[in-house]
Amino acid sequence: MLTHECRCCAHRCRIPEGECGRCGMYRGAGGAAVEVFPDSYLARYPTAIETVPFLHFWPGHTFYAVSSVGCNLSCPGCVSAILTADPGTLTGALVRLPPDNVVSEAEAAGCRGILFCINEPAVSLPTVLRLADAAHDAGLLFGCSTNGYLGDEATCALAPLLDCVNVGLKGASDACYRECGGASAGPAFRTVRALYEAGVHVEVSVVYVRGREDEVVSAAERVAATDAGIPFQIMRFMPFSGGGEERVPAAREAEDLAETVSSILENVYLFNTPGTSRLSTRCPACGRILIRRAFNGPMGARNEWVHPGERCACGARVPVSGRMTAEWRPEARYAGGYRPTRGLELIRGMLAAAGVTDRAAQGRVLAAELASGGLSTLHERIATPRGFCSALRSYAAAGGRRDEGERLASDLLSIVSGIRDKTVGMGRPRIYVALGHPLVPLYADKPEISLISSAGGYPVNRNLGRGDRDARPVTAQEIEALRPEVVFYQEVAPVDTETFVRACLDAGVLTEAVRRGAVYRLPAGTKTGCLGWAASIAAVAGILHPDAGCPAPGEVEEAVLSCVRAVGGEIPYGR
Ligand code: SF4
Ligand code: SF4
Repeated sequence: MLTHECRCCAHRCRIPEGECGRCGMYRGAGGAAVEVFPDSYLARYPTAIETVPFLHFWPGHTFYAVSSVGCNLSCPGCVSAILTADPGTLTGALVRLPPDNVVSEAEAAGCRGILFCINEPAVSLPTVLRLADAAHDAGLLFGCSTNGYLGDEATCALAPLLDCVNVGLKGASDACYRECGGASAGPAFRTVRALYEAGVHVEVSVVYVRGREDEVVSAAERVAATDAGIPFQIMRFMPFSGGGEERVPAAREAEDLAETVSSILENVYLFNTPGTSRLSTRCPACGRILIRRAFNGPMGARNEWVHPGERCACGARVPVSGRMTAEWRPEARYAGGYRPTRGLELIRGMLAAAGVTDRAAQGRVLAAELASGGLSTLHERIATPRGFCSALRSYAAAGGRRDEGERLASDLLSIVSGIRDKTVGMGRPRIYVALGHPLVPLYADKPEISLISSAGGYPVNRNLGRGDRDARPVTAQEIEALRPEVVFYQEVAPVDTETFVRACLDAGVLTEAVRRGAVYRLPAGTKTGCLGWAASIAAVAGILHPDAGCPAPGEVEEAVLSCVRAVGGEIPYGR
């Protein structure tokens, strides 16, 4: 059988004529492996470079983030799974645009450059190379984030056209790469070295799965063999797309690991950990903070303050490429970084629950949502149970299941009112909700805050009086002034209450609630927009009003499941 070798990544698929390689993005045709969707993009939006993330390259500047769909690996818990695990769902949403048009959009949005990120550039390599050329012709910078599983040909093609790259490592061993569908770790580390030696600004990120500290340490040692100054981002594993919670390290474990790695590399950062101080850049000579940053969602950071000038007060050069700025351009909740993929997952979850399970039908709704810019208002639309149900209705209707959407939404709302009615006339305890760390309040406009109200509590986060994009930790005094009677904490890691209480005491905060033993983990299922929120309302109501006779969370979950089944729907992972 005639086959064509694809050299766009280290898999080097042999693709039969008329068929596709393993990523689905190249087809054997006319004696070669050709791109199936040339010059085609799924996402195109301006975003702060720290959400991609890059921390030492043009800090604070806005770049135009673009993506296609597909990936050459298949990692458990992938944050972009909707684009990578099943690219066929979204190929209908790809928009074909000549490179110069993308460049014009980036310029019009005031961007300093273009970054191909969110999915793997190797699966759209000819498109990426054309876009990089066009960006440079227009005087823009160009970079990408990649898993580095590239092979020599792709690395050589990219090297002269990249100004910056973030290579996302899966670990240091071949076993880690096999788990992600690769053969070995070698190609990724060779990519780091080759691009660094070609003069590209290189940053490295590595996923940290609980119990695999050695992988991170070994990866750091291998990166240090190239240059100990390469910024090294430890990505605390988050169970996106159904990865297991037991794989999530506790914040303390992640902090300890970052400390260990700091003895190997000069610039070590910790992501996905609210309240950490390890997102800030320090002077390598004297340790002063040069850029202070805060947690900003999955894989994201945001600058709060930057040192003015190119030299630290001690005289050492600030270790960044390009100018720094502390300006912050606000981004909608489902815009920037990896958030659009979270928004798309959420909509797909609603569609599936209403019985829109056909991949093509889901793809059409998601494509329309992307084309209309609906993601930019999604957060506001689903911030309450009523708003969520209204969005559910309209997506179900768009997917051709109007009646099923109506029925499901109305059943869900009646379950919620049933719980709420039980707590009517009872006191409304003052609730503080922390995100992972006692001093990091959950944003007051998050759906979880409205769950607290539905469960008969009064969320004092609303009284903090901070902008809804203000990610700075609060002080212990600010929290005490709110007089919270009960504390909930939201944690993706399996952190027990005792550990969180210890963190409260260390931070000198919430002592009254801690003394009364009124500290609880926000029940699972409150993840934004998942249908499990109905069960979570029951769980919170049961804690706040134990004598109200609220249904048990398990009962509510069963009730929701039976409503979903009644309309022919299904609940995907992460309900
Ligand atoms: S880019 Fe896709 S088709 Fe090409 S070698 Fe890699 S996985 Fe195979
Ligand atoms: S390499 Fe990145 S985009 Fe590809 S599957 Fe793994 S985590 Fe997802």
